[in-house]
Amino acid sequence: MENRIGKRPIIIAIDGPAASGKSTTARILAGKLGYTYIDTGAMYRSVTLKVLRSGLLDALREDTGRVSALLDGLQIEFRGDRVFLDGEDVSAAIRENTVSREVSFVSSLKPVRDRLLVLQQKMGAARGVVMDGRDIGTVVFPEAELKIFLVADPRERAKRRHAELSLKGGNSAVPTVEELEEEIRQRDRDDEQRTHAPLKRHPDAVVVDTSCLTIDQQVARVYDLAAKILEG
Ligand code: C5P
Repeated sequence: MENRIGKRPIIIAIDGPAASGKSTTARILAGKLGYTYIDTGAMYRSVTLKVLRSGLLDALREDTGRVSALLDGLQIEFRGDRVFLDGEDVSAAIRENTVSREVSFVSSLKPVRDRLLVLQQKMGAARGVVMDGRDIGTVVFPEAELKIFLVADPRERAKRRHAELSLKGGNSAVPTVEELEEEIRQRDRDDEQRTHAPLKRHPDAVVVDTSCLTIDQQVARVYDLAAKILEG
């Protein structure tokens, strides 16, 4: 494992659609660089879980302002690769399909984005971070020295998600590849079309298509780009 933290640490922003390989790439890359990995999708998922548990989801569709009450005192924290919502380890709960289905709606709400933006900028203030999401290079850290936009064919992404869910097991039945592909396409549309901080490539972001790449190849591609900046 290399540690380049002695050099001036940089911010690496990795954006892209659902299941394009962002979190795997970001996590391994952060490990190789000795950087902190911040999964902003997990933060939006945590808020979504909080909304679902509050029973306010339907009310929010009518009156989105009501979400503010849930954001007062919201605490999201990463400890290693676990995520804590208001002190509770929700790492498994936020990956449930019930959360995946509603996360785009909850993420589209302006008060939610404003709150998480502040938290994310604070988390990255010390630099030396790899942050992945949808709007990191465009909104959260447009000054990030390295911006990556990961893409992959939707079918390929559905297959990866299917393999991931099948491996995990658990109580709920695993959706079919077709169902997952439709869900992924729908989530991409919702994320791209929303008013606030839509999923969009920053003009400076380097596009990496992971459809035909192994995980090692994806990581190597991004690592080389980071190394050039760190050594330059
Ligand atoms: O990365 P992941 O697929 O877990 O993200 C879940 C959802 O959270 C995305 O589909 C998107 O709606 C939302 N999200 C976002 N902005 C981010 C990260 C995630 O809106 N920076």
